[in-house]
Amino acid sequence: MSKNESEKSWRLATQMVRGGTMRTGFGETSEAIFMTSGFRYDSAEAAERRFKNEEPGFVYSRFGNPTVEMFEQRMVLLEGAQAARATATGMAAVNAALMCQLKAGDEVVSARAVFGSCRYIVEDLLPRFGIKTHLIDGTDLTAWERAVNARTKVVFLETPANPTLEVIDLPAVAAIAHKHGARVVVDNVFATPVLQKPLQLGADIVVYSATKHIDGQGRCLGGVVLGSEDFIVNELTPYLRHTGPALSPFNAWVMLKGLETLELRVSRMVESAASLADQLAGHPGLAAPTNVPALLYPGRKDHPQYALVQRQMSAGGNMLAFRPNGGKAGTFRFLNALKLVDISNNLGDSKSLITHPATTTHQRLSLEERARLGIGEDLVRLSVGLEDPRDLVEDIAHALEKAG
Ligand SMILES: *Cc1c(COP(=O)(O)O)cnc(C)c1O
Repeated sequence: MSKNESEKSWRLATQMVRGGTMRTGFGETSEAIFMTSGFRYDSAEAAERRFKNEEPGFVYSRFGNPTVEMFEQRMVLLEGAQAARATATGMAAVNAALMCQLKAGDEVVSARAVFGSCRYIVEDLLPRFGIKTHLIDGTDLTAWERAVNARTKVVFLETPANPTLEVIDLPAVAAIAHKHGARVVVDNVFATPVLQKPLQLGADIVVYSATKHIDGQGRCLGGVVLGSEDFIVNELTPYLRHTGPALSPFNAWVMLKGLETLELRVSRMVESAASLADQLAGHPGLAAPTNVPALLYPGRKDHPQYALVQRQMSAGGNMLAFRPNGGKAGTFRFLNALKLVDISNNLGDSKSLITHPATTTHQRLSLEERARLGIGEDLVRLSVGLEDPRDLVEDIAHALEKAG
């Protein structure tokens, strides 16, 4: 068995610790950081062959780098993809995954509820280049049926979505897209690669902000795009190579180290998030349910799409959303009364972080559009970290009481 084949037969935890490792002659146990922009060739002929792609080897770190490649190969194993390319940020990954394959005259159908900057790309940026975008309610399969047609090149979505944690039926959307020859691009950040495998559920391309759970300790920005060998090599790689959103070798090393503990961290976060959701549900400090429930957690039976969550995710994730009493003022009092959980818009960190989407991540949207997405003035989004869940419950319950 070649190294690559034995890596594929390993179980997930083993792959995450060892997959993709390339050792130097020094036999280091921890992966080496190749902080080099360029690579030297043994001869002018060798340089010529490398540039012609006639011999393997690195050329320039904008095109590829050993530490970055180790991270890419470990991600390939984790996702069960054929190939991957890393990028400097999650947004660089989303942008490249879309731009590398779209041209004027193509159409894109996207779920309305996506990360703010992703929405900027599909709603504002792509149309400037003659690409027509349709924004729809991703949970409504008839809306997908209506919007996808023969001109649709790409279907884009995020599930669970930020910040309302609505869930989109991946196999159903993929079937609609594929019927018309469109590709499905999934931003899988909220589910994490541990809890949901979009490629197995019909997606063609998966993107991550590695800044989130993959680093998981709030240190570095990074991103990754995964898909078929053909897409990665022939469409994505030339785009990345010539536009240059390369991941730094140092950041790739941090991400590699993050992957070693990803499964452990995500499992623990999910356990804490589930217990927190159960203890907060029905808390008197939460608002009365309107068309938006007082608390949303995909792992709870009262999540509006619990049956779908059960089908496509192995657990409910580490993100929850809830609505404290007293509108925006009450919600701000609640946030300001927290002593442990930090007010911050990042997520997937070992530290629990909470954000008020209406005034931060989603403030760019109109009031009407926010209302349509269920992002009220009282909604908060919590990313559950690795602290003792008892301390988190105490902090949140205490802040709810103080605010109310
Ligand atoms: C954070 C995030 C991004 C962007 O990633 P960056 O690394 O911050 O560029 C994209 N999509 C989702 C769902 C995210 O949470």
